[in-house]
Amino acid sequence: MIRLSEITKRYGQMEILRGVTLEVASGEVCVLLGPSGGGKSTLLRTINGLETFDGGTIEVAGLKLVPGTGIERDRTLHEIRKRVGMVFQQFNLFPHRTVLENVIEAPVHVLRQSKEEAIQRARGLLDRVGLLEKAHTRPASLSGGQQQRVAIARALAMNPEAILFDEPTSALDPRTTAEVISVMQDLAQSGQQMIVVTHAMSFAKTVAHRVHILQAGRIIESGTPEQVFENPQNPATREFLKSE
Ligand code: ADP
Ligand code: MG
Repeated sequence: MIRLSEITKRYGQMEILRGVTLEVASGEVCVLLGPSGGGKSTLLRTINGLETFDGGTIEVAGLKLVPGTGIERDRTLHEIRKRVGMVFQQFNLFPHRTVLENVIEAPVHVLRQSKEEAIQRARGLLDRVGLLEKAHTRPASLSGGQQQRVAIARALAMNPEAILFDEPTSALDPRTTAEVISVMQDLAQSGQQMIVVTHAMSFAKTVAHRVHILQAGRIIESGTPEQVFENPQNPATREFLKSE
């Protein structure tokens, strides 16, 4: 379970998150939509401890995070990052390592798995995303869609409770987008808890359990895909959906 309660965050004078409350159940696929600049990336980064926040609480897998700094917070952040994976628009793979080395990096260094065990698991995960035959190549020789599937395998290698996706297909062409979406559908069906920021509306419509619209730092509408897409209550939601 992920529970955000009244999260606020500012950059200088600018209030970026203005009291965001959000619950994502275990096994739930939650899609965050909203206009550019609304705070979606900031919110994901806050959940994963990549950003600090100013008010509210974040609970992830029984760990509770409050604003501030200090050793206690650092320890909690370390635990949260072990349990929550993140997939970025620009893949963020290590360019000088092979695909397999990218996938085993964190299990070996953070989870202290033996190299043999990590390699065996990584091969299984690369097979799952359809890239086992690319295990010994470098990211630069792969298509964007293939790199993103490696990034997903890398996230899965940590056995995460949840995976956060920040516009995972925005840098991809339609064909490779479809390959990545198909892997994400497979994850969703296996019960992986996911929070997905995306413009891929068909994914939101067909895979999401719940959809939330984030605009100007506030969740202005939440519901099932049917509710939000077929019968939006907030005029701003209707405006946003028209523009997509
Ligand atoms: P979204 O992902 O919904 O497009 P972001 O979370 O990237 O929105 O950005 C929300 C707001 O926060 C934007 O106005 C953006 O300019 C601002 N912002 C994001 N990161 C920073 C930063 N590091 N410093 C200052 N302002 C930032
Ligand atoms: Mg963003």
